[in-house]
Amino acid sequence: MNRKRVEHFRQLLTEELRRHSQHVRDDQATVLELSDDRVTDSVDLSLMDVNKEITWRLGEHESKMIADIDQALLRIKEGTFGICVRCGKSISEQRLEAMPTARYDAVCQRLLEAENGNEPPPSL
Ligand SMILES: [Zn+2]
Repeated sequence: MNRKRVEHFRQLLTEELRRHSQHVRDDQATVLELSDDRVTDSVDLSLMDVNKEITWRLGEHESKMIADIDQALLRIKEGTFGICVRCGKSISEQRLEAMPTARYDAVCQRLLEAENGNEPPPSL
């Protein structure tokens, strides 16, 4: 992949990273606001626990996304971006365009998903 294309993906990833960092803050602020209202109205502790759980789950999902993006940016720095970490073949640019954090080419991704028992994609 030429340097110009790599730079294109670096920008995509940087933008994604910014967007997800913003998400984490927004989601947590919203959930905290909600629980504040509930607490003053009815002091419903179980509901507060539910909200905490939601915050935690959102945080976990976003943290994983951010970690994936971080790793992709690191691969760009190391010059291994766009290369399947499993078989060493190039990942198609079409695939990277759809998912710049992809670590595997389509073939390896399918194999790994088959090994892992076809987990459904995350719904969040
Ligand atoms: Zn591969």
